[in-house]
Amino acid sequence: MLSTMQDVPLLVSRILEHGSTIHGRSRITTWTGDGAPRRQSFAETAARAAQLAHALRDLGVTEGDAVATLMWNNAEHTEAYFAIPSMGAVLHTLNLRLPPDQLAFIVRHAGDRVLFVNGSLVGLLTPLIEHLPRLEHVVVSGASADEPRAALDASGVEVHEYETLLAGRPTVYDWPELDERQAATLCYTSGTTGEPKGVAYSHRSIYLHSMQVNMTESMGLTDADLSLVIVPQFHCNSWGIPHAAFMTGLNLLMPDRFLQPGPLAEMIDTERPTHAAAVPTIWQGLLGELEARPRDVSSLAQVTIGGSACPPSLMTAFDEHGVRVTQAWGMTETSPLGTVARPPAAVEAGSEAEFAYRMTQGRFPAGVEARLAAPEGGFAPWDGESPGELEVRGPWVAGAYHGGFDGEQLRPEDKFSPDGWLRTGDVGVIGPDGYLTLTDRAKDVIKSGGEWISSVELENTLMGHTSVAEAAVVAVPDDRWGERPLAVVVQAEGSGEATFEELRQHLGETIARWQLPERWTRVGAVPKTSVGKFDKKVIRAQYAAGELDVTRLGSDGHASDA
Ligand code: ADP
Repeated sequence: MLSTMQDVPLLVSRILEHGSTIHGRSRITTWTGDGAPRRQSFAETAARAAQLAHALRDLGVTEGDAVATLMWNNAEHTEAYFAIPSMGAVLHTLNLRLPPDQLAFIVRHAGDRVLFVNGSLVGLLTPLIEHLPRLEHVVVSGASADEPRAALDASGVEVHEYETLLAGRPTVYDWPELDERQAATLCYTSGTTGEPKGVAYSHRSIYLHSMQVNMTESMGLTDADLSLVIVPQFHCNSWGIPHAAFMTGLNLLMPDRFLQPGPLAEMIDTERPTHAAAVPTIWQGLLGELEARPRDVSSLAQVTIGGSACPPSLMTAFDEHGVRVTQAWGMTETSPLGTVARPPAAVEAGSEAEFAYRMTQGRFPAGVEARLAAPEGGFAPWDGESPGELEVRGPWVAGAYHGGFDGEQLRPEDKFSPDGWLRTGDVGVIGPDGYLTLTDRAKDVIKSGGEWISSVELENTLMGHTSVAEAAVVAVPDDRWGERPLAVVVQAEGSGEATFEELRQHLGETIARWQLPERWTRVGAVPKTSVGKFDKKVIRAQYAAGELDVTRLGSDGHASDA
């Protein structure tokens, strides 16, 4: 029997129309660094998105064309977010921290002919242009310095001013009735563990994912809230927050290029956001700033942390500031919301049990199915003990990678199971009540003497020591055990230096002796990826090249237990 319900396609344009009418007064505030943030309503944003779509149509953009953005988080980027997919084209957000050759590769791969760039980023774009034969139009938003701008003007592409392009155009657009399965936005993975791969989100996946982001179980934000969106708009659509905001009227505070701890603290102090979202390294930086120069961050009722494991010390430190941290797990391939760590109602608030739940990666929402592929084959039970590689499926989970503007979709075997589930590359356990605890990325697990050592557990415990600001642990080759952990630590400002022996003892209080690192090194900062995660590839390469000054402590792993 066929249902009797209307089949209204789930489109980004519908989210835009809803946000601009029902929540027309909600606002996007863009930080300018000069004490006068720019503010515009959702209604104004929709009008400008319509103008932008008219302009793009005049530049020859048609359905299915990829249009790139090389932009910070700001109002104009949000206009592009809605205009490009709503007219049937595909918004391709570019990670501005990628190395230039990777950036050029993904623009060519996607076949972008039009590219939007913030004035402050023109210098980054211009040297790439000679490697982008398909690129025809560059639209510059905001002021740029004279020299890079002159180079852009001389580069052979047609250069447009964003405001001039929009001026005088109609403020309504007759958005087409698209197929909801069509691509709406395109985002390449940041390449922490390999070459960037393109994930093309559909209108339908964005719509359903936005509803999930808005559920109380997830971020649960409303038009009474203001979200400081630190996670970049090029990093999985800012975790879906701008789209979700136009469903509920959630007000947005966009930091533009002011992502350093000082300006972020000032934004929180003066604009009073109730929510913020970012990777742990940003929060670690902010914490240091707050300790050095206290500011009022009490408006932040809730902070969402994801992208890499949240160290317990970070969560506790924010608890002390009265800021509630909620951990979430996800990937570019999962839109990204995959789990959210809200403890079950049955556990007592403030109890140790509650804290333990908050330290998990969280539980799966309806819409994300999970299973653990066991190392010995088959699937591991959800008993909180049996590890496996996490596999997921659902309506906002990728089923393939974009094959390029002239290529076929790609389904590499190491990323997709034969029955179509996404292989996440993350290793962990799931408890009987569906809470996921990740112990590592499959590529970062330390395989020592046939056993697995969790680099994340060692890192979290090290970062719990007062003298440690950051700690990364990577596998290094070992003649006897195959691999052993190397601990890379960064001294915390303003606290005495602990010896490696003392740090090892600190680990030994909670971690089995055979897992404790015997190789130690101190660095000024842990190398980071383009989205602020510890870059373990770089650390392993530095170690292999003999560039690290490594101290070796006497006892040796498994042998010391014997
Ligand atoms: P990349 O894989 O290039 O770093 P993504 O942003 O898609 O880009 O990263 C997804 C990965 O980040 C996940 O597979 C997982 O390893 C890690 N990750 C995300 N959130 C968490 C979290 N809360 N705890 C631990 N790891 C996380």
